Amino acid sequence: MGDVLHGTGIGRGIAVGTVLRMPEPLPEPADDTSALTPDAEKERARASLAAAAAIIRLRGERAGGSAKEVLEAQAFMAEDPTLIDDVGVRIDSGKTAERAVYEAFAAFRDLLVSMGGYMGERATDLDDVSQRVVAHLRGVAAPGVPDPEHPFVLVARDLAPADTALLDLSKVLALVTSDGGPTSHTAILAREKSIVAVVGVTGALELADSTEIVVDAATGDVTVAPDEATRAAALARAAELKAARSAATGPGALADGTPVPLLANLGSADGAADAVEKGAEGVGLFRTEFLFLDSATAPTVEEQKAQYVRLLQAFPGKKVVVRALDAGADKPLSFLNDAAEENPALGLRGLRALRANEPILRDQLRALAEADAETDADVWVMAPMVSTVEETRYFTALARQLGLKTAGVMVEVPSSALLADRILADADFASIGTNDLTQYTLAADRLLGSVASFQDPWHPAVLKLVGEVGKAGRTTGKPVGICGEAAADPLLAVVLVGLGATTLSMSPSALADVRAELARFTLDEARRFADLALSANSAVEARAAVTSAATP
Ligand code: PEP
Ligand code: MG
Repeated sequence: MGDVLHGTGIGRGIAVGTVLRMPEPLPEPADDTSALTPDAEKERARASLAAAAAIIRLRGERAGGSAKEVLEAQAFMAEDPTLIDDVGVRIDSGKTAERAVYEAFAAFRDLLVSMGGYMGERATDLDDVSQRVVAHLRGVAAPGVPDPEHPFVLVARDLAPADTALLDLSKVLALVTSDGGPTSHTAILAREKSIVAVVGVTGALELADSTEIVVDAATGDVTVAPDEATRAAALARAAELKAARSAATGPGALADGTPVPLLANLGSADGAADAVEKGAEGVGLFRTEFLFLDSATAPTVEEQKAQYVRLLQAFPGKKVVVRALDAGADKPLSFLNDAAEENPALGLRGLRALRANEPILRDQLRALAEADAETDADVWVMAPMVSTVEETRYFTALARQLGLKTAGVMVEVPSSALLADRILADADFASIGTNDLTQYTLAADRLLGSVASFQDPWHPAVLKLVGEVGKAGRTTGKPVGICGEAAADPLLAVVLVGLGATTLSMSPSALADVRAELARFTLDEARRFADLALSANSAVEARAAVTSAATP
């Protein structure tokens, strides 16, 4: 057997196939003095930047879904006025359009890389746009994804959205990249489309075309030229996973039959039909603020009621958890708080902002109670960003007073997790928002690329807090849901159930994989995984310990 390369696996799939590498990028344009006038070079640059933007946008439209959004963002990069000005300045100093475009994009790229994390991972997008513009200037084909007749494992430095949008998924067995981390586009695409992927693999670019490899996302291993036994074991596991995924239909449950209802996170009623089709057993988080992000004034009771009725009608007899407007930091709502704050994540946000504008909160609860009365869904309401027992009492009392029968709180702040027993003495349920809980536990702004590596819900400190809420749920007999991104990570979902979560809510595209993973383990196993994760020293160790215990 050949070498084993290592990287970060996305999901738990496994695939066997032959390597096909992305074509190498275009060579760097030479730094020659232009023979044309600066105006003529600027016109060439302008035309090619516009053409690249138009082509990228067209691809986005053809691809649809999340690819459309990322490609749209890329098209904007080619139209960025600061960047275009920088190209002009470089042309004025005597450079060719090709060289000026190359340098201007490279300078912007370096800036993003120096910011690290999420921003650093967007650097690949800029490289891709730059290459496309330079190719257009030269009149050559843009570098792109290979499209052979046979299935293959695509090996690349990293994939840009323009590449991922064009992948023929019926032929791509797996993705292996040398760069990129768990939040890169390759990783996002792999999760969304359930493609086997290992990212950040050192040595990946030395893999020669047609080499056979085994790509194991569960372990992050890429085995080069596998022997017969390794190959056969990998194929057997791939077949098992495929069978498990298609067998796992119906309500979410562990292998021993313990039910774990699988719910959807939605931001508008538009996603309801898709969620139902993907098997959502209800809604675990309806983010009402998404309906009003562009509003300058508070929505009226009638406006809100119409939206809620539309959502509730899609889930007759099912549980629908509606969150009161969650304003602040990543979700600004000017009608709730437009003050400039030094630290908006620690500011007047969530329930604090609602309380400071109680008439708006009352209108929302009234609209929801009226929608509830006119439909057959089982409506639950919860408050965002609750940090004290007193706030819990305030919200639940008001919600009940206004006619809502099931009132709970989100646990997103460590103080609420630590006092979960007292919070659940009053609230009907708790729903853990792991995105914010991780942000506050690790003291790392979830929007800041430079600290993105801290935003990992596998961190044992976060899991310990989840465990506190789980324990309180068991003693009080009240439900504890999870509605942050953590619930969409199949193996972490099992750990969360082991820690006491009774329902999981996620974006609908994640439901199938989480359902299949839950069906593999019993509650005892889930609890054992939870103990393993809790005794780790870091997120990386926790993930590795549970992955290895869960791998047959
Ligand atoms: C969370 O914080 O985990 C959560 C679900 O809420 P949001 O992502 O909308 O802040
Ligand atoms: Mg939150």
